[in-house]
Amino acid sequence: MTAEIGSTVLGYPRIGPERELKRALEAYWASRTGEAELRATARELRIATVRELRGAGLDSIPGGTFSYYDHVLDTAVTFGAVPQRHAELGLSPLDTYFAMARGAESAPPLEMTKWFDTNYHYLVPEIGPETRFSLADRAPVEHFQEALEAGVTTRPVLLGPLTFLLLSKPAGGAPRGFRPLEKLPELLDAYAELLVELRRAGAEWVQLDEPALAADPTAEQLRELRRAHQRLGELTERPKVLVAGYFGDFGPALGELAATPVEAIGVDLVTDPSVVDGMVNLPGLRDKTLVAGLVNGRNVWRADLDAALATGATLLGLAGDVAVSTSCSLLHVPYDVEAETDLDPQVKSWLSFARQKVREVVVLGKALGGDRDSVVDDLDRARAAVADRAAAAKVRNHRVRARLDALRPAHRRRSDYATRREAQQEALQLPPLPTTTIGSFPQTADIRRARAAWRAGRIDRSSYQQRMRDEIRRVVELQEQLGLDVLVHGEPERNDMVQYFAEHLEGFASTTRGWVQSYGSRCVRPPILFGDVARPEPITAEWSCYAQRLTGKPVKGMLTGPVTILAWSFVRDDQPLADTADQVAMAIRDEVQDLEAAGIRVIQVDEPALRELLPLNAARRPEYLEWAVSAFRLATSGVADSTQIHTHLCYSEFGDVIDAIVALDADVTSIEAARSRMEVLDDLNAVGFARGIGPGVHDIHSPRVPGAEEMAALLRAALNAVPVQRLWVNPDCGLKTRDYAEVEAALRNMVSAAVQVRQSLS
Ligand code: GLN
Ligand code: ZN
Repeated sequence: MTAEIGSTVLGYPRIGPERELKRALEAYWASRTGEAELRATARELRIATVRELRGAGLDSIPGGTFSYYDHVLDTAVTFGAVPQRHAELGLSPLDTYFAMARGAESAPPLEMTKWFDTNYHYLVPEIGPETRFSLADRAPVEHFQEALEAGVTTRPVLLGPLTFLLLSKPAGGAPRGFRPLEKLPELLDAYAELLVELRRAGAEWVQLDEPALAADPTAEQLRELRRAHQRLGELTERPKVLVAGYFGDFGPALGELAATPVEAIGVDLVTDPSVVDGMVNLPGLRDKTLVAGLVNGRNVWRADLDAALATGATLLGLAGDVAVSTSCSLLHVPYDVEAETDLDPQVKSWLSFARQKVREVVVLGKALGGDRDSVVDDLDRARAAVADRAAAAKVRNHRVRARLDALRPAHRRRSDYATRREAQQEALQLPPLPTTTIGSFPQTADIRRARAAWRAGRIDRSSYQQRMRDEIRRVVELQEQLGLDVLVHGEPERNDMVQYFAEHLEGFASTTRGWVQSYGSRCVRPPILFGDVARPEPITAEWSCYAQRLTGKPVKGMLTGPVTILAWSFVRDDQPLADTADQVAMAIRDEVQDLEAAGIRVIQVDEPALRELLPLNAARRPEYLEWAVSAFRLATSGVADSTQIHTHLCYSEFGDVIDAIVALDADVTSIEAARSRMEVLDDLNAVGFARGIGPGVHDIHSPRVPGAEEMAALLRAALNAVPVQRLWVNPDCGLKTRDYAEVEAALRNMVSAAVQVRQSLS
């Protein structure tokens, strides 16, 4: 960034355009290669990235956007926050790092959790009173020098000190009430040391990311933010500092930062454009550079450059200088839309992945800086693409719209629960404490091979169907043998619970190379929801009905809910999410009704992502919860009283969504609970939840097989909070990541726990 208007991006994908880092990591972990090879691949990727970004014409190039696993983990290691259990393994620095990420021998890894409201997961640093911060790892300096030697001056990107501590958790032995934030002064000393070193190495700018401050910061957090950046700003020898806030409304933090010596502030104008209002009377901004996040870093749509220019123009008078950027790091989008050879060409022309977004930023930077002439063609093309998408026939399905227009409140309402309960009991004749599973059974190599062969056209429809049926038969027989009460077909035909539905619905496109890092070496390929959603034909009935024909026990149909489908896709931005959710809900509702008509009496609609889409700013939550609940109810209320609707949520801390869970009005809700010792049931009681509940008694994220006694104890604990008529017995989540030996043993113990508790009741 120079004194005039510049262009930059806040971060870039790092897994490699061909997922080179994934392959290199996995080869290293499997001991097929050594450290030198892994480091060489990493170095090539870093250099290729900075050269690419410079070649694209950005004025300021982010550096240090690379990570071997996760940037929060990198920050912990840089500043010496390595837990004792990992340090004492006596491994090399690189292997200690991987031990923190993945665990080793007796040392469990750091906890992993979602990065704000994205699908990226970071590792949670553990900070205690004993943590000694220092500049323990000089990678940020080395990476700066490495880029410099390759001819590119970068702006090193670091996680900001406040966000780092706010994302950390107290270390195991920390005294009660200890908060990592207490360590801010010591941490700042280490940051200061790093800034000085970066300056000495030649860095002109450094970027400190403070996204935690964009989500309703407390007065204390704002005070600490100011104090921290005042302290760093006062260093006599340092690079200029850009503090970036994103994923929410950075407004409250702006005023604090404007009063510190930092030279630039980055704001996300996409998530919450109203942040501009707060800039109008902010005199401190007049001697700062405002880095305007005008290009959405999280979705895949081409930007409306005219609209972005108009927003940019309103900023010009408010700050000393305006630079153009992405709203957040481009970590959350795939590399290059040009790599997609199978996409519908028209849909493809509306898309922008990381490489294209960099170009958008460059074009905006030039146009805002007065060099519009050189980018007229880009602006014209962007305008044409935006207009084409707005007018395209394939984004609009009149039948879908007419059906939605005809919806009435009655379409989102079932009869009262007592009536339903009675009808269901009559129809299903379940014992007390009915046992079931969450849906998937282990995905064996054989099923994966069959799916891949079918996809590649190596086997025909009937042999694919036969192989899936064989698997379903095995899974049903196993469940019969184990004595489960409500069976499932096991989901062998599904690669992923969202992708599977996206591939069978109109309005979605799939990419072949659109990988996005989820965590570590793990990548996902989110479907792209571009148009009105319709279901051309039934999707799951053939599998569920086949399973039902094999048994006299009820087989539970398995569907993914509308909110989760949106959460794990790239979703169109040309209409309110609420409308898109209702379209998906209608498709699921059709599926629910077809299952019912085909004789399936229990249907589960999974919403594991309900909490994940919750807006970070509290003010925006009620509206979200309203449409999310309403879409679920639309999907599930088209059935008779006697059809039992289940839902499944993948967490046990409900917090802000607890009332919404009541409002879903599912007959049975299964949740994670094994680790929280059933305490979650009291929380549910407190808000008047009075439907069926299946608190998981088996933590499927661990390979440990719990004994029958242990699970029976959990059930007895649950019975203290829930009457026996409402309690279900099930694992925490789907079983697809486990192997059969574990699953069989765990389910056998689970059934025997249920039988034991039932007997003691009668
Ligand atoms: N029905 C899905 C399964 O069992 C649910 C997965 C989930 O909760 N994420 O795999
Ligand atoms: Zn789950």
